[in-house]
Amino acid sequence: MKALVLRGKNDLRYETGYPDPAPVAGEVLMKMTYSSICQTDIEVWQHDPFGMFARDSRPRIQGHEAAGIVIELGEGVTSLQVGDRVAVENVRTCGTCFFCRKGRASLCESGRNFGFSDNGGLAEFAVWPASLCIKLPDSMSNEEAPLSEPTSVGVHAVLNSGVHVGDTAAVIGCGVVGLATLQVLQAAGARVIAIDPRPESLRLAAELGAIATLNPTEVKPAELLPGLTNGYGPDVVIETAGAAGTALNAVEWVRRGGRAVIVGFGSTPQEVVFSRTVGGEKTVMGSSAAGAGDYRKAVELIASGKVNVKPLISAKVPLDRGIPDGFERMLKPTKDVFRILVGNG
Ligand SMILES: [Zn+2]
Ligand SMILES: [Zn+2]
Repeated sequence: MKALVLRGKNDLRYETGYPDPAPVAGEVLMKMTYSSICQTDIEVWQHDPFGMFARDSRPRIQGHEAAGIVIELGEGVTSLQVGDRVAVENVRTCGTCFFCRKGRASLCESGRNFGFSDNGGLAEFAVWPASLCIKLPDSMSNEEAPLSEPTSVGVHAVLNSGVHVGDTAAVIGCGVVGLATLQVLQAAGARVIAIDPRPESLRLAAELGAIATLNPTEVKPAELLPGLTNGYGPDVVIETAGAAGTALNAVEWVRRGGRAVIVGFGSTPQEVVFSRTVGGEKTVMGSSAAGAGDYRKAVELIASGKVNVKPLISAKVPLDRGIPDGFERMLKPTKDVFRILVGNG
């Protein structure tokens, strides 16, 4: 089959003779429609940050934000039929480790991942357990479907934030995950303030319903946030930027007694002044990927129109152009895109 094959760090190739996958019991074979490329794919391609190729050198097909059409059922599959359009819930937890048994599947120690540990969607065909292929509602397009993955990250963060109806929240970082998180917060009944240095992101945040947008290169959010809230600051701050200082900003800007949820992976150390955090009884928590059920919620939120991912799709390119028009465009320092869809629909 045709596929974008990562054969090692910084060695991504378009190949036409990659072996076709076959579904084992419980799996389905899909003809892939679209996969979207995210920054994590670029990092894995360029730097192998998870050390995948250090552990074993087998080639991998990326594409963890993916959708397809079921074309063959493995033995015992009854939940789906040939022809069903599906989105791929990419995290496959083991169900038996310490964390899975504690109900904390997002911390699973031996989980597998479509597009990382296992071959993903940047190919003509892929296999995955039927239980993790979510049938798309009629109101959801094949183009929107891959965006269920970043939306599920937003769902997980919002659930972790413990936000209440009528709360005011701030989102730091308005890339795809941030703009999805903004809309999930709104669906949960919160008013949202968007914070990002990129004017285009703030324009979109306002269009998607943010009550205020703050550009930290122009204004001081710490000074403006109390006036935009109840005088004390946001009840909840969700950080999705992963930039130098942004996790610290979340902790500093959330009101006393509020909760800062850190989603972004920043590599720069950031020092928290714990006396203020302790004195203000603030909660700081990390939120990683998604937990069981979050992906289905994401699909429902998109299908019902509560989360609009259409403006986050910047371009659509066929598989054979995925490297020059997808990966290489995302790599440019002048990156002017949210998500690029790769596939042939
Ligand atoms: Zn991603
Ligand atoms: Zn587990």
